Amino acid sequence: MVPVAATEKESRRSDLVAFYHELSDCTKCPLAEGRTNVVFGTGDPDADLMFVGEAPGFNEDQQGKPFVGRAGKLLDQLLGEIGLVRKQVFIANVLKCRPPGNRDPQPLEIEACEGHLFQQIALIQPRVICSLGNFATKLLSGSPQGITRVRGVPQLREIGGRNVFLYPIFHPAAALYTPAMLEQLRADIAALPDLLGQRLPGEEPEPVPEPEPQLAAVGAAGELPPADQLGLF
Ligand code: URA
Repeated sequence: MVPVAATEKESRRSDLVAFYHELSDCTKCPLAEGRTNVVFGTGDPDADLMFVGEAPGFNEDQQGKPFVGRAGKLLDQLLGEIGLVRKQVFIANVLKCRPPGNRDPQPLEIEACEGHLFQQIALIQPRVICSLGNFATKLLSGSPQGITRVRGVPQLREIGGRNVFLYPIFHPAAALYTPAMLEQLRADIAALPDLLGQRLPGEEPEPVPEPEPQLAAVGAAGELPPADQLGLF
């Protein structure tokens, strides 16, 4: 029999894939006219850790993937410093389409697109959401407090219908040009493994894992293929 937990995971994953397809021709705001690709997000559809940036830039719009330019390389490097790679987390943005000339997101664009992000969060069910910079932080915290005031301090929030730790940190693009910000960002990211180890209210303690059977069947019922084999993420 397929374990309940596995089928629930599979159904969230296939809903996320369906949502990816649904958004690929989104016309909810005028950014649809100038985009090359909708940048849905990439990574593990069941990640404990999710990063939310601002909006796709030139490279992201061309490739249809978030954080593939210089800011993304820095994010990859800082993730590497805590022993993580991109496919272990999920990376998305407040806006799924590139604003012309990389200008700031406009309130009406955020309003049109925010439901997409909340839907992604509801399906992925991350335990920690790292908001990168002001736009993601203000949207997800529901507070006007800017990133400089709130960075590095986890906030317990209900987002996407579940408790999460919202963890605001500087946007890597800002850190590219300001060494002091880079060091702050590095220190904040270095604190992530600890935060991921903390229990959210209502969470059960991790069960002690059963010893692995000697000859576990690969692809056994209920086992999910690795996220990168999905093709879409
Ligand atoms: N900056 C962002 O906020 N998101 C991206 O995907 C790339 C750069």
